[in-house]
Amino acid sequence: MKNLTGSSIKDLENVALNYGQAAFRGHQIYNWIYNYRNKKKNIDQIEVLPLEFRKKLKEDGFKLSELSFQEKNLAYDGTLKLLLSTSDNESIECVGIPTEKRLTACLSSQVGCPMDCKFCATGKEGLKRSLKASEILDQILFIENEMNRKVTNIVFMGMGEPLLNIDELLFSIRSINEDFKISQRRITVSTVAVPKMINTLSAKSFQILSKCQFTLAISLHASNQKIREMIIPSAKNYNIKNIIEDCKQFVKDTGRRVSFEYLMLSGVNDKLVHANELSNLLKGFQCHVNLIQYNQIDEVEFKRASMKNLQLFQSKLFNNGIAVSFRKSRGLDKNAACGQLRQNSKK
Ligand code: SF4
Repeated sequence: MKNLTGSSIKDLENVALNYGQAAFRGHQIYNWIYNYRNKKKNIDQIEVLPLEFRKKLKEDGFKLSELSFQEKNLAYDGTLKLLLSTSDNESIECVGIPTEKRLTACLSSQVGCPMDCKFCATGKEGLKRSLKASEILDQILFIENEMNRKVTNIVFMGMGEPLLNIDELLFSIRSINEDFKISQRRITVSTVAVPKMINTLSAKSFQILSKCQFTLAISLHASNQKIREMIIPSAKNYNIKNIIEDCKQFVKDTGRRVSFEYLMLSGVNDKLVHANELSNLLKGFQCHVNLIQYNQIDEVEFKRASMKNLQLFQSKLFNNGIAVSFRKSRGLDKNAACGQLRQNSKK
């Protein structure tokens, strides 16, 4: 199967030329995919193309989409979570998070995830496979079609560890930037951190995209190595201090800021002693800490930290000179946590 979503204008011109068509037929396919996003995902319906050409493309296995709609969950605040099926009958989640001025798409990069973070529903299922760039991009089109507006911002914070699928991640970022016309500065790549891959990310980004202007968000979630290993078992291969050093190098190489995501877990990492420890870890590093409320899931002992602890933690970081903000959880109805809709659908 050859999915045309994710193809550049040059690629599509070449497809047209290979079938003895004029190059502008490639432009017509390009416009259909990227500029008329509410249209049907079927080659038959690109009626501006000659019938014979459409037939040939279909016979040769070309498609405009490999995903299909499975289920959706609309929260009281307008956040929309979609469950989509892949062509090999796996399920992936993506989320549209609207505000007045923005529509942020939270995308998955893998089916399942091998990182096994103890607080995460996706991690419980293990990794099935990585997604192709076309499958990553298709999630944007599904969100736009369901929400009837254009996506303005992208966060790779859905299912999977993006740095374990780095080539497809960067191919999708090329298309998001050039075809979907969303600036790299509006894209955030979130990772729990994989040894050596932060450096690889910036190097490959310069190589494939000739720039690296997206934001890197590290899911740190701990103020020391011991706590981190307890909640993220894969962290034992990558010391928290080495992560900070690699992030400093990323900032030097790219000129972009790094943010640290910190999930507030009651009794685990939410005390003032942890806030002081985190401040010491990040002292002198121009970065930003994002405190996040936890969405509780079944079969996991972690609980959401109290608002009081969250506010005290935030004030402590602020007074210690650390740039900090608090991200309120969106879509706090059922199935709000990453991987939860998929898990419940399987049940
Ligand atoms: S939090 Fe992210 S990296 Fe960790 S298991 Fe879940 S999806 Fe994977």
